[in-house]
Amino acid sequence: MDYLPVFLQVRGTRAVIVGGGRIAARKADLLLRAGAQLTVVAPRLHEDLRSRAAAGELTYRAESFTATHLDGAVLAVAATGLQDVNTAVSDAARERGIPVNVVDDAALSTFIFPAIIDRSPVVIAVGSAGQAPVLARWVRERIEAILPAGLGALARFMGERRRSVQRALGPAARRAFWERIVRGKAASHLLAGDGPAAQRAFEAELWVSQLTTSAVTGGSALGEVYLIGAGPGDPDLLTLRALQLLQQADVVLYDRLVPAAVLERARREARRIFVGKNHGAGADRTPQEDIHQLMIGFAREGLKVARLKGGDPFVFGRGGEEVEVLARHGIPYVVVPGITAALGAAAAAGIPLTHRGLSQSVTFVTGHIADNDSLDWPTLARADQTVVFYMGVGRLEPIVAGMRAAGAPDTLPAALVERATLPGQRVLRGTLGGIAGLGSRAGISAPALLIVGEVAALSGGAERAASAAAAAETAADFIQPI
Ligand code: SAH
Repeated sequence: MDYLPVFLQVRGTRAVIVGGGRIAARKADLLLRAGAQLTVVAPRLHEDLRSRAAAGELTYRAESFTATHLDGAVLAVAATGLQDVNTAVSDAARERGIPVNVVDDAALSTFIFPAIIDRSPVVIAVGSAGQAPVLARWVRERIEAILPAGLGALARFMGERRRSVQRALGPAARRAFWERIVRGKAASHLLAGDGPAAQRAFEAELWVSQLTTSAVTGGSALGEVYLIGAGPGDPDLLTLRALQLLQQADVVLYDRLVPAAVLERARREARRIFVGKNHGAGADRTPQEDIHQLMIGFAREGLKVARLKGGDPFVFGRGGEEVEVLARHGIPYVVVPGITAALGAAAAAGIPLTHRGLSQSVTFVTGHIADNDSLDWPTLARADQTVVFYMGVGRLEPIVAGMRAAGAPDTLPAALVERATLPGQRVLRGTLGGIAGLGSRAGISAPALLIVGEVAALSGGAERAASAAAAAETAADFIQPI
């Protein structure tokens, strides 16, 4: 982040604009809307500013700028179009330690005006650190389009009732209550302009909330658990439901595979607890049993618990065990599917997991096998299919040996995808015979997937034919950084 986004309280404080043109008039409008006591310093005034000065809304000083104009000011704006005056304003403001904006000159400014969507008291600010103001405005238009016009009225409605709800409900029940208001009838009536109906829906909801809170658990409502698939790593691959529930969670229990960029999407106040497991019981191992206890404990406190897992919770994610435990303890839960690593890797590497004429089925299988353990190798080694090994990076040799012993040819294409969809993603392509050596030479480490089958030679689009041919002709191994 290049700038700190904040909302400044300027009501009743002194702000100074140097410059009297059209742009100065726009900034003046903004500052006056925020309640500032405005002084405009300029030899001449734009007609908007002139009429506002005549109406007594601002103080006009028909003078050339001097540093003393900033005495007692909390904020300064320079909009003169004259480099030397703008520089003088910037210098004087910095000397006094007050924030200054010089229009269209980020280097002379200590703050910039964002593009805003004003549904007061809800205000949304969009900035691009001065690098792409047009893009910021485009983003603003898109947000503007999806926000109901009555949003401000809804916020005021809620603000006016905060106190009484605070008195009526405990902290956990309160948030749940407001969430039901925002998503429920009260909000839709209000947005439709029907205040009395909104008030009736509000009262009914409050009554029900008070009743259930005291009846069910004597003070705090039972919480719930969201078992959320976080996808393969890229936060843009979260589902909308995952995002919505992450925004509601009080506590987030997350795995090793969940990157920081995904965690950032959770509600800012949510408590984040790492419960990652390391195979082979490392020091930071959290036994599955402890995870169960944490989920149950928090839910019983009335909290909303997001159990965030890499990929999909029901694909090698032990999600099945967790929902059994929750059901046994009567804790409500929701399962939100995620994009499993195989799908993320396939898309990122351009490898279609099924493909007409090459592969009719795909199998996801765990490669986390003990040496003497045996998968159903004859089935996995059959032609015309794709096999994706999860958790197999430390076991490439025995996997390859198992496949070959069951009749899979050495020339069968194979690919390793490391850190799929994450920064530093690597795709290694080769053949079944060469992939283990290729992987260890390149130092491939978890998380990585092994994809075996004719499709592993494909790479999507134009590259496809070339790489398939290369793999077939020379069985050459190559690294394809993405
Ligand atoms: N529930 C997860 C899988 C957990 S098992 C899912 O649906 O994806 C952990 C294994 O998943 C890792 O050992 C690795 O094989 C695979 N994996 C998870 N994220 C990955 C990623 N970003 N790139 C490659 N493999 C990944």
